[in-house]
Amino acid sequence: MTLKTHLMALDPNNKQATLLAKHCGYARVARNHALSEFKAGLDRDEFLSDMDLRKRFNAVKDERYPWCRELSQNASKNGICNLGDAVKRWISKQNRFPRYKNRSGRSSYQADNGAGTVKVEKKRVNLPKIGWVRMREKLRWRGEIRRCVVSKRAGRWFLSVLVKVVSDSAPRVRSPRGPVRVVGVDVGIKTLAVTSDGVEFENPKALYRYLRKLRRAQRQLSRSVYRSRNWYRKQVRVQQIHYRICCLREDAHHKASTAIVKSADVLGIESLRVAGLLKNRRLAKALSDASLSGFLTMLRYKAEARGVEIIEAPLNFPSSKTCSACGKKKTKLSLSERTYHCEACGAVLDRDLNAAYNLRNLAASLTERENGCGATISPHSRHTSCVSEARRIETATTTDKRTGQLRIDLSRGS
Ligand SMILES: [Zn+2]
Repeated sequence: MTLKTHLMALDPNNKQATLLAKHCGYARVARNHALSEFKAGLDRDEFLSDMDLRKRFNAVKDERYPWCRELSQNASKNGICNLGDAVKRWISKQNRFPRYKNRSGRSSYQADNGAGTVKVEKKRVNLPKIGWVRMREKLRWRGEIRRCVVSKRAGRWFLSVLVKVVSDSAPRVRSPRGPVRVVGVDVGIKTLAVTSDGVEFENPKALYRYLRKLRRAQRQLSRSVYRSRNWYRKQVRVQQIHYRICCLREDAHHKASTAIVKSADVLGIESLRVAGLLKNRRLAKALSDASLSGFLTMLRYKAEARGVEIIEAPLNFPSSKTCSACGKKKTKLSLSERTYHCEACGAVLDRDLNAAYNLRNLAASLTERENGCGATISPHSRHTSCVSEARRIETATTTDKRTGQLRIDLSRGS
């Protein structure tokens, strides 16, 4: 059993969009009301649980907030539950004391009560008190719906559905035939990722592409009257540009990480401490734009889902400074040197490719399982029924001297 979420765009009509906004407002009002009750309780040395807070809110809501009758009560209930969680985090010192929410913050509400009130079929969802709302795509996972959260981002409505997936397919095991494919991945700013197979993935540099538009929109926002009708319109424009940047970046990351994970059985990656690198003010903008930690996280979870082993190099592993051909380590290597020249053995190759080779060699040295012929074989091939087939492939494999990659020569097999 696993829990999976699917975030998708909603396509509400005008009436529905207004109702969605009202529900978000209701969740916020309920939360703020409960927070002031909770604070008053603390002053009296009384600790109110979220159950108490909900009771107190329900006792006064019809009188103080008469407009809430046309809305689903799940919004207020879950709003107060969220406050309860925030209080728990404050008590366990994970977070600061909860604060009031205002209109300009992120608006969202939880639409279900955990009892199957929300129904999803094909490309539409039935939300309580709103009715059938169109979705831009079908729900990706099948199973019991655990939670539905509606949120607004850059003027668009989204639905996040948490599904308990029952019959989830087991992670893919390595292909029983053929050698283990060990791939090293070097991530960077210049190119997003370079694999030891020689495949390069472009960095979309989404922020740089939109920097001019963003500047213009932000300037227009700051020059309009605060909280005027025009100001809200300009604010949405800025949000839209940020959203577009984010989409471009995520799209590139998803495509690259999926392609890399599909091409490997064992992945060698580096572990980055981006927080330390961000202190360099010349690199900070480009680094944040590349969002390398996010990319590595993506690689990790996709590898786990597909049963690909991940080997992380230690934090100070000199993947760029070491020569992948002879193993000599340079003491100094500036960022502007895009080509690696080795003084010891004379190897000349691309800097990122050199780093990818080093990461692959590290991963291979930690997972190597050699057979009598010296070729690396998959551990699964020994246990399959087609042992002879595996042996045929093993004898036909040769190691490429230049790249160190395993090659299968099918003509040599018997
Ligand atoms: Zn060398």
